[in-house]
Amino acid sequence: MKKILLLNPPSRAFNFSRDYFCSKALKTHYVEHPIDLLVLSGILTRQFRVDILDATVLNLSSHDCFRRIKDFSPDIIIFLSGSASWIDDFNFMKQVKEANQVLKIIGIGDIFFNRDVIVNHKWIDAVLLDFTSRDILHYLEGRYDAVKNMFFRNHEVVIFTEIAQYHKEEFEIPVPRHELFLRGNYTFPFARRLPFTTILTDYGCASRCLFCLYNTLGFKLRKLENVFEELEHIHSLGVRELFIKDQSFGHDRARALRFSRELVKRDWRFSWTAFSRADSIDLELASNMKEAGCHTLILGVETANEGLLRKFKPGLTLEKIDNALKLCKKLKIRTVGTFCLGLPSETKESVLNTIDYAIKSGCDFASFNVFVPKTGTVLEKEFLRHNVDKKLIDREWDQSGMSSISGNGIISEGEMADLLSLAVWKFYFRLGYAFNRVLDLTSVADLRMFLRSGVGLFRSMMSRKRSLTPE
Ligand code: SF4
Repeated sequence: MKKILLLNPPSRAFNFSRDYFCSKALKTHYVEHPIDLLVLSGILTRQFRVDILDATVLNLSSHDCFRRIKDFSPDIIIFLSGSASWIDDFNFMKQVKEANQVLKIIGIGDIFFNRDVIVNHKWIDAVLLDFTSRDILHYLEGRYDAVKNMFFRNHEVVIFTEIAQYHKEEFEIPVPRHELFLRGNYTFPFARRLPFTTILTDYGCASRCLFCLYNTLGFKLRKLENVFEELEHIHSLGVRELFIKDQSFGHDRARALRFSRELVKRDWRFSWTAFSRADSIDLELASNMKEAGCHTLILGVETANEGLLRKFKPGLTLEKIDNALKLCKKLKIRTVGTFCLGLPSETKESVLNTIDYAIKSGCDFASFNVFVPKTGTVLEKEFLRHNVDKKLIDREWDQSGMSSISGNGIISEGEMADLLSLAVWKFYFRLGYAFNRVLDLTSVADLRMFLRSGVGLFRSMMSRKRSLTPE
């Protein structure tokens, strides 16, 4: 039986999160399960001997990671990369390939949607552009005619297959091998119990936010029975905490209700966090989700500038966001507002308004990111039209702002870094905030997460301050 290694490469400067076509340096010391590798562990397991090496969660040096790869001696490596970390990742993977020329190397990540990447990096044999499909099996069996959602090298020629976007049929996946991932010390700031695991009940996103890559993937739903089969397995492993990684839980309202009611009926007693959109949430749905164990909702707020919201996140208004936040507060569901600072045409003043809004909005947590032109999005095309001399694949782009930042063109990278620090400082280091968080603690795991987040945030603020201070 051939051996496949699912690899999250070592992280050098920061802990990098590379997951579901999104990569960023982590401000705190959390590493979530890479959902792409988790899903693939199930798809590949019947035909291959599969193992996972997450060098980031294990905090392995490049040298140690290299040694472990050699010990496992895989025939195929599927590795994660992304626009925030690709230079280091590629240097490492190139060395791995040089040490074993017959090894097949397959990449997953946002950066691989750019066709130049596989063309220019000849050590990459293939890239996978939908990790929930069985195309990887067709490819590895040599049934190239049946392959979609991949770019791959056939002798010296690179084949670009069709990327299937919309699906009438619901999809199914073999149950992922959660047990392999429970070996790692994965953590997540909003988990109320440990261990936790991550699941997916749909793929991509049906919304049309112009800065976001997820809607460029298309959108498909997973059969709920197939999801419940996976939950049964997770329950049997003793795991009771979930992160539902759907990008917009509740987009299909009837399905979200069915999911929540079924969780209550099966009495598994999971507690969970999900991403949603403020305009998908209403009293009936949120009450059912709460009853089914949802304790935290992550909502994309992005900006307090109504004009920018209308332009970049169609359908959403500040009124809808306020209503959703109030509703969650009433039902005692914690909220995490995610903010995208420095959208195109945004000024320093409007970023400052957004920071003030974040504080007044009543969100329990805030995640501040900076706009970067992501591969495949409308805004990437616009950015490249106005910056004809720039190539996005010439540099690393990181929405967390820990490495290169600001694709905005109005606010400089230095100013953007200052604004980001200010946002974190003003939101988290205010009187009464820590006190409220302490009152909200419900378990020892919760307390551990709280302390870990606090220390991590403080350290990242200090290191950012140091890196901004002139020598
Ligand atoms: S709702 Fe969220 S995931 Fe979907 S396109 Fe908008 S920002 Fe992206």
